[in-house]
Amino acid sequence: MDDSTRQRLESFLEKKGLRHTNQRQAIIEAVFGTDRHFTADELLVMAKEREPTVSRATVYRTLPLLCASGLLKELDLGKDFKYYDPNYSKSPDHNHIICDDCDKIVEFTSDEMKKLEDKISHQFGFQLASQKVQLRGTCEQLKHSGACENKVKCK
Ligand SMILES: [Zn+2]
Ligand SMILES: [Zn+2]
Repeated sequence: MDDSTRQRLESFLEKKGLRHTNQRQAIIEAVFGTDRHFTADELLVMAKEREPTVSRATVYRTLPLLCASGLLKELDLGKDFKYYDPNYSKSPDHNHIICDDCDKIVEFTSDEMKKLEDKISHQFGFQLASQKVQLRGTCEQLKHSGACENKVKCK
């Protein structure tokens, strides 16, 4: 976790009057210790590696809190569960391309897309507040080997 993330988070928790607990700290370290997009259940596993007493309930209570801080972003990728994106505050403009088969998520930014978004919002007289571009498809691995490695592993 970088210093600016840590500082923003500490002042946010302080403002909310939340005390430090080992469980919450382990969850926070797990969230910002990865560049991956993760689900609540994946976060539970990552946080438990740091602090075995972390419970599912604490994870589910802490996630909306971190999203409210603006440092973590909830992503709806059209699945039954939400993904969480720890890179959001570092690069709020990034977009995602997702493999439908193995759920691999790749981040990208595109100046051309940004220009297009500006052009479209201008055209309709809107001031752009946020954007979300999601591309879906199948990843390179599926093309080469007929199956995604991720999927084989967890099924
Ligand atoms: Zn992302
Ligand atoms: Zn795939």
